[in-house]
Amino acid sequence: MRAGVNVTAVLPLHISWLADPGVKFLISEVNQRETPVALVLEHASDPLRTQYAVNGLKHLLSQAQVSVGLLCTDISGLGAIAYGASWAAVGVTSALRHLYPADKKGRPSGPQRPRHAIVPRLMTFMNVERIAEGWAHVQRHDDLDESLWRCDCVECGNRTMDRFTTCTDLSLAAHNICVLDDLHQQITTPDSWKRAISNALGSYGWIQDEFHITWEPPAFMNAWMPRSWR
Ligand SMILES: [Zn+2]
Repeated sequence: MRAGVNVTAVLPLHISWLADPGVKFLISEVNQRETPVALVLEHASDPLRTQYAVNGLKHLLSQAQVSVGLLCTDISGLGAIAYGASWAAVGVTSALRHLYPADKKGRPSGPQRPRHAIVPRLMTFMNVERIAEGWAHVQRHDDLDESLWRCDCVECGNRTMDRFTTCTDLSLAAHNICVLDDLHQQITTPDSWKRAISNALGSYGWIQDEFHITWEPPAFMNAWMPRSWR
């Protein structure tokens, strides 16, 4: 049965649906129903952190004859759009970036809800305490370049990002939305998505060389652009 033209089917999916043979079945079902879909991928952290999930999503996006959107994604939502998704909702809090598995303990709880901000040059949602740590490191060394920790988005106005530890949730969200919008303008094709990942990985390498801090890039970067491609 076909749904109305304004209907989007929300599909909360276990990540295994993006692997064979599930993804082939999913593509066939989606095309038969002829109804736009919005995927909500279930995972305890980032569902698009593995190559099989990313490859399955790319396959789905290339074969789907209906609009495919993604709800609750991390920065990978921009990659999905570059590969043909109609839209993606990138969550500005950790709980909105993936669907916690129903079969596990559920979402973590506690009095202290971690706050994350996108570091533009790293293209990463980073805990604000870690950002402040990076800024403090620069302050202890006169010869280090501090530009990584300044943000020129409309909300920040070139202020340093250590402000995120004390700013309001609204200001933090405004920063994240400005940066996402900026990335969205730049990333329009698979090539520009790969170039953005490559630049972010270059900045992680620069942090290691300049600050002697080893921070692992988010796993989604390797999933979209495996080391063998670089
Ligand atoms: Zn900003």
